[in-house]
Amino acid sequence: MTAPDTRIVRIETFPVPPRWLFVRVETDDGRVGWGEASLEGHGEAVDGAFAAMRDRFVGHDPERIEDIWQIAYRLGFYRGGPVLMSALSGLDQALWDLKARALGVPVWQLLGGRVRDAVPVYAWIGGDRPHEVAAAARARREQGFKAVKMNATADLGWLDSPKALAKTVERVAAVQAEGVDVGLDFHGRVHRPMAKQLAAAVEPLKPLFLEEPLLSEHLDGIAQIAAQTHTPIALGERLYSRWDFRRVFEANCVDIIQPDLSHAGGISECRRIAAMAETYDVAVAPHCPLGPIALAACLQIGLTTPNHVIQEMSLGIHYNVGGNDLLTYLVDPDVFAVADGMVAALEGPGLGIEIDEDRVRAAAGAVGAGATRFGAARMARCASGEGARLSAVCKPLGRSPPRAYIVEMQSIAAVMPIPGHIDPVPVPRAPVARADGRVDLIGLTKDQLRATLTEAGMDARQAKLRGKQIWHWLYNRGATAFSVMTDIAKAQHPWLEQRFAIGRPEVIEAQVSTDGTRKWLLRSPDAQDYEMVFIPDADRGTLCVSSQVGCTLNCRFCHTGTMRLVRNLTAGEIVGQVMLARDALGEWPSQPEGRMLTNIVMMGMGEPLYNFDNVRDALKLVMDGDGLGLSRRRITLSTSGVVPMMARAGAEIGVNLAVSLHAVTKEVRDEIVPLNRKYGIDELLQACADYPGANNARRITFEYVMLAGKNDSDADARELVRLIRHYRLPAKVNLIPFNPWPGAPYECSTPERVRAFSTIIFEAGISAPVRTPRGRDIDAACGQLKTAAEKRTRAELDRAVEAVA
Ligand code: SAH
Ligand code: SF4
Repeated sequence: MTAPDTRIVRIETFPVPPRWLFVRVETDDGRVGWGEASLEGHGEAVDGAFAAMRDRFVGHDPERIEDIWQIAYRLGFYRGGPVLMSALSGLDQALWDLKARALGVPVWQLLGGRVRDAVPVYAWIGGDRPHEVAAAARARREQGFKAVKMNATADLGWLDSPKALAKTVERVAAVQAEGVDVGLDFHGRVHRPMAKQLAAAVEPLKPLFLEEPLLSEHLDGIAQIAAQTHTPIALGERLYSRWDFRRVFEANCVDIIQPDLSHAGGISECRRIAAMAETYDVAVAPHCPLGPIALAACLQIGLTTPNHVIQEMSLGIHYNVGGNDLLTYLVDPDVFAVADGMVAALEGPGLGIEIDEDRVRAAAGAVGAGATRFGAARMARCASGEGARLSAVCKPLGRSPPRAYIVEMQSIAAVMPIPGHIDPVPVPRAPVARADGRVDLIGLTKDQLRATLTEAGMDARQAKLRGKQIWHWLYNRGATAFSVMTDIAKAQHPWLEQRFAIGRPEVIEAQVSTDGTRKWLLRSPDAQDYEMVFIPDADRGTLCVSSQVGCTLNCRFCHTGTMRLVRNLTAGEIVGQVMLARDALGEWPSQPEGRMLTNIVMMGMGEPLYNFDNVRDALKLVMDGDGLGLSRRRITLSTSGVVPMMARAGAEIGVNLAVSLHAVTKEVRDEIVPLNRKYGIDELLQACADYPGANNARRITFEYVMLAGKNDSDADARELVRLIRHYRLPAKVNLIPFNPWPGAPYECSTPERVRAFSTIIFEAGISAPVRTPRGRDIDAACGQLKTAAEKRTRAELDRAVEAVA
């Protein structure tokens, strides 16, 4: 083999918002090709797979595309599957781009030339009701589309009401009345008993296709549906190679295949899959809810494949949030212009698009090959999860999980009264006496610990030393017994054990969500129940800590606000949550590197600034370098706007501040955050402007829960921007899709509304990511926390709100 004229010298990957992974291949003579290896929700995994790609292909001849493809596919022990094939897909696209550019021709020239001059395209629309989908279809028609795809239905039960079928029919008819053709996506979420009925119900309307009527694993079931309906059946987005597709063709159950150019082996493999399809008389409509490079690759296939019928296009799709859309990273966005339902042949060299490299590098947050750099794309991942789940989130859960406990009536007698509803009188609460008479050391400040030892009879000098040692054992090593404290004389252990306890909150129930979120139901010695939540992410783990049992503030969208019982948690109960999490995660001794628990948010149950002293003392223990050692920059305190305590919070605690703003007019905020009647928006924002330590590097987070028709208009978004500018706030906005709970008086805004709202803020230069709801299946998401304490009636809540006013 002769030495190649050019070699690959660099393979870089760029995780960019909203949820894409771009690949850049560079040669020793400075040529570059771009590909896209986006695998929705699993960018890190694909990025990781590129480490092996680099080992294998740096130094290789980039022009041997097929050779590289075969090596990448066959020469590892494992082959196929979404992760490895997405990495290979991105690399393959980049190699085609590179080669065609070197030759100065579009990729379609290398594929044998065009069989058509323009490619028919369709876009996604959302909406639950007929008038919503009709409006969305109209908007698409005005953009130039003649075909759309929409969800056939929300989740259906295994055997659901026929009414659900009628609803789908109405929505399809409403879209068609706008003069637009429509394909229906079942997303594999409909089961066989309903799928066959739904297929029959929509058949008279002649939709373009039914996508994934069942999951691709149920090929025999799909074959059955295919045999009974005349509507074309489409599937393939979850298949990764010609071998996966072979089973589908052999099952004779599909009319249109939808390989994804970023998952099914890139241009090379999808071209082969399309040719296989042709031999079965099956059409091709590549799946592409992804970014611009993937679309460009799809269009190259579309221009050269005889059995290609239509191309999916992600312009304005609900996943593209935070101001990042299909055209964001293009130098010339006009290449994807849609006219008369078509995109014209891409005439430029390579894939036919020019990537704005500076923008990509800035968005990915780093330059250079090799490193895993998902920090900057975290928002993107959130956004994608968001998009995927929003429609489900917005449906009320309609159930409360079974609780494995009851609150005993006598515990009400032990409830700590909170003086006044609005005056933020800090109520330090004396530790509850333990039944065994011992004093719990957790939660005591260093001085209090020493004083407690002295009061128990230890002499002052010894108490100073022992206090220091015990402190270290408690907070650095996580000791839960004196017997392990090896630097304290054994003879002294019984003396300590008789007088003191090292407490942890009692765990009543521990639940794990399907997304990895963990929720613990905890109980205090006086039978008060509260909750904490751990949210693991790829590059961080966040513990959401409660400050009170219940909350007096009765925000109308918050489940916690409906609890009858309210009591401040002690400093020990607050720091105890962090220690318990460390126990559960096996993270003792405290060490700065490699922890899972990296961040703390005071966003659990309760208003932390109504329990100021205890929250402050607990957080000081958390931040102490000799103790739990978490930096103040990794701790965020969220307040609903207790203005008089904000300056003190800045001065005495100094952590990041989050403010639950949620509305920009007095009328709406008065309704949804009743504390606004006491401390209005202007006062609150002035307090934010004065908050010590807030600057561009440490911005104040404004939380904004998206409530349909209540606070989510474009005008609201613009007013939010105006307010932030007016008070010159170093701010970011956190858009929280409303998490429903049984009986909640609001609904979540639609995904389109959330996106439009976010875009307005983002375009004003203010970051406005949409927070992914986490742990909804175990009621662990924002605002869903509520323990079994009896719920208050609406009338009682209204009275409580009046009291705030
Ligand atoms: N009491 C504090 C901290 C706890 S609430 C505060 O209000 O800031 C944490 C966040 O969840 C707040 O921004 C709160 O407004 C928000 N939240 C409450 N209920 C919610 C719901 N049902 N859906 C989404 N977010 C909610
Ligand atoms: Fe309390 Fe915060 Fe819920 Fe309002 S949102 S009721 S302040 S916990």
